[in-house]
Amino acid sequence: MQERETFPAEIKRQLRQEAGFGCCKCGRPIVEYHHIVPYTKEDPHYRFKDMMCLCPYCHHEATVGAMILEEQRHLKKNPINIQKGRVNGLLKINQKQLVLSVGSNEFINDNEIITIDEEKIIELSQSENGAINLSLRLFDSDNKLILEIDENEWISGDMECSFQLLKLRQKMGKIAVTVDTRKNYISLTGTILYNGIELKITETKMFSTQLNAINTCFIGSTIKFNSNQKTISLNVHPVFKIAKVVTDPNREIRIRKGLKLFEEMKLNSSHTD
Ligand SMILES: [Zn+2]
Repeated sequence: MQERETFPAEIKRQLRQEAGFGCCKCGRPIVEYHHIVPYTKEDPHYRFKDMMCLCPYCHHEATVGAMILEEQRHLKKNPINIQKGRVNGLLKINQKQLVLSVGSNEFINDNEIITIDEEKIIELSQSENGAINLSLRLFDSDNKLILEIDENEWISGDMECSFQLLKLRQKMGKIAVTVDTRKNYISLTGTILYNGIELKITETKMFSTQLNAINTCFIGSTIKFNSNQKTISLNVHPVFKIAKVVTDPNREIRIRKGLKLFEEMKLNSSHTD
């Protein structure tokens, strides 16, 4: 048998997201990837538009021909989990720019955004197809992991998610963190806790005992908290020489300038390798 080319992880991810993280037909969370257009020697493909998620049982139904093509196409377009609003696990990010808004500040970076000690709290990255991925690890005041999102995929945590709006609730129904991807940029508000560090992010500012930032766009850098020394530092992405910052009361201007600087930094770093 001819060995199949590797199935791109990104296509699998897109298929899982499309299906609402379950079988398109029955919603079971264990999925296999079904070729609606058969994988053949003549057409050895992993095309997103010609594949779908099915559980092993429904996959069998499809492969023996009991689930006709028309039904497969219909289910791919109307996965049951999406129909029923069972979209836990999906944070939909349509933005193509690496901008994360925190309070009245932004981060533009393809890397860690905020770390506390060695823990990566917020990370932003861009896939080859331009898709933006957000990863989050949130803790309670006892350092217990309460929410984990890995590249937009919900891994664990008790949260409410409706495609582009994610709310993590804590005791007494209090909203701990909100991630909103409905605007031109991804925004995050709430309280970040770890190792005794408390970083509060409101609509207008981002502050802790070590930091108070407003109207600032951080480009190519990571904010690192050190809980022992009670310090913060701005660490530049290893491919860049220096981090840049834009301050301006107007968000649109900050983001526009910031993205331009980021492009220049990327260009410079690729020239001097
Ligand atoms: Zn199924």
